[in-house]
Amino acid sequence: MEILRRIFGHAQFRLQQDIIIDHVMAGKNALILMPTGGGKSLCYQIPALALEGTAIVVSPLIALMQDQVNALRELGVRAEFLNSSLASDDAEQVENELRKGELDLLYIAPERLIQPRTLELLRQVKICLFAIDEAHCVSQWGHDFRPSYLDLAVLEEFKGIPRIALTATADQHTREDIVTRLKLGPARLFISGFNRPNIRYHVALKTEPREQLLSFLETHQSSCGIVYCLTRKKVEETAHWLQKKGFKALPYHAGLSHQMRKLNQDRFLIEDRLIIVATIAFGMGINRPDVRFVAHLDLPDSIEAYYQETGRSGRDGIRADAWMVYGMQDVVLRRQMVDGSRADEAHKRVEHHKLGALINFCETVACRRKLLLNYFGESTQDNCNNCDTCLAPAELWDGTIAAQKALSCVHRTNQRFGVGYLIDVLLGKTNERIERFGHNQVKTFGVGADLDEFTWRSVYRQLLAAGYLSVDMKHGSLKFTPESHKILFEDQKIDFRREQKPVRVKKSKTKSKSKDAVSRIIKPEDVPLWEQLRECRRGLAAEKSVPPYVIFHDATLLEMLTRRPKTLEEFAELPGVGDKKLEKYGSLFLALINSEN
Ligand code: ADP
Ligand code: ZN
Repeated sequence: MEILRRIFGHAQFRLQQDIIIDHVMAGKNALILMPTGGGKSLCYQIPALALEGTAIVVSPLIALMQDQVNALRELGVRAEFLNSSLASDDAEQVENELRKGELDLLYIAPERLIQPRTLELLRQVKICLFAIDEAHCVSQWGHDFRPSYLDLAVLEEFKGIPRIALTATADQHTREDIVTRLKLGPARLFISGFNRPNIRYHVALKTEPREQLLSFLETHQSSCGIVYCLTRKKVEETAHWLQKKGFKALPYHAGLSHQMRKLNQDRFLIEDRLIIVATIAFGMGINRPDVRFVAHLDLPDSIEAYYQETGRSGRDGIRADAWMVYGMQDVVLRRQMVDGSRADEAHKRVEHHKLGALINFCETVACRRKLLLNYFGESTQDNCNNCDTCLAPAELWDGTIAAQKALSCVHRTNQRFGVGYLIDVLLGKTNERIERFGHNQVKTFGVGADLDEFTWRSVYRQLLAAGYLSVDMKHGSLKFTPESHKILFEDQKIDFRREQKPVRVKKSKTKSKSKDAVSRIIKPEDVPLWEQLRECRRGLAAEKSVPPYVIFHDATLLEMLTRRPKTLEEFAELPGVGDKKLEKYGSLFLALINSEN
């Protein structure tokens, strides 16, 4: 507790931090599941400072290590890292400090740790604990599998030294994998819940994705955020297009050179108002706390992936947006990808199941947060009032008859056609193809004239999403599923969500003053001071070549605005201000705050 206040400047423990710390201090193993931004790091950083010896932290990403070590040094903690980015002289120096017992924490890449040489070194020094971060990387089930994580089981030889594994995402399967593969047993499991209350979820029907993205970004003009796309090509095109529209946007995908990727990632960590357009190759270990939005232009891989990707926003606890557009093409494409993969049938079934859950999330008219949390096995009763379906409940309409017509049209045309054709038949439009097949003679020809094309598309998409239709892999034609007969022959009722036709957003001539989530919560009269505080932080950060948030988080700056501390004592009370930061920056920021008027 004393360390929490004095070093880290926080007033209270969060979630289960305190009991986890006690458990680790007692020398026991643990698996810790905590949502992103929940405060996992403190669970090993505090024991590392309290116990005698060095804490060894295994971390998968070099950028992340650098970042954490920077932040710790700012707090006056003796932390170093060892990875391939370090020159051999520097590495030697770090090893010497370790031997002399001069380090509180040492971050190591897994590949480095398992080298016999490193293990030999560790045997000679006093270690207080091992922390294995992003522990889900040990599981082949997850999407971040790292083979070298499997070898971390060798740490079992360090008897009596507690080993803790930490992650933000792990379903039941992955949890078991972590404990068995890392040979952690017996290990206590700490689950802190998955809710990220400050993230607002929003899923819209994909009509004109670029325009939609643009109007979303208008509400985030001074934010930094991530836009995810499925393919490299789309990443490039979207980044380019955003640049043309005047945004500072950078691409990131596995096809770029290592150098380019590093450059763009580094810029993302430091610069303001920057958008990264990326494939899922981007993001693990990005712990910039003030990412204000994550936008998906394509469906993510699964609910787990969605949760993890959107979870990269709002680590600082300030409002953030998770925004996605999704449409029928996404469903079709993703089902085809699963069916066309080389995986065995059992694996495909799992994949279809996961995809189904994700589509369900997109289509739901219930609270999205509830659905997400339930997916992770956390039951909640209350609506969140911070997702689109809570804030603007979807209207439902009885679609039983429309569904019967839609399916019957599939039947009359022998399950051989795609949506466009089927809708033409329903609307009674004739063309050369329809005449050639004689479909202007079938019973369903023209029976759908009471609804328009937009609505029929929505009907087919919702039928597809709900599993009443499937798509033929090769021809893209719609086919029956074992569920179809319930609607066609058993009179099953079905409700559809009423969808809004896209309206072209008119560009507002007067640029709105509230540029993003953070600026919106700042009073207009506070804006000049806010900018000054940020400028001061930027200067300090540039001097030290660290990201601005390493100096102070936005959350701390915001508190400066509201509390207006007058003395160093009052300044010390701000969240995120520990002894070292008080000493280094206290008077500088106090002067700014009190120089007004
Ligand atoms: P993650 O669980 O994603 O690794 P971190 O350990 O990086 O999260 O912590 C996320 C943020 O929460 C950090 O900025 C940290 O300073 C802050 N934080 C952690 N614990 C507390 C606490 N007890 N009180 C206030 N802020 C905290
Ligand atoms: Zn909700």
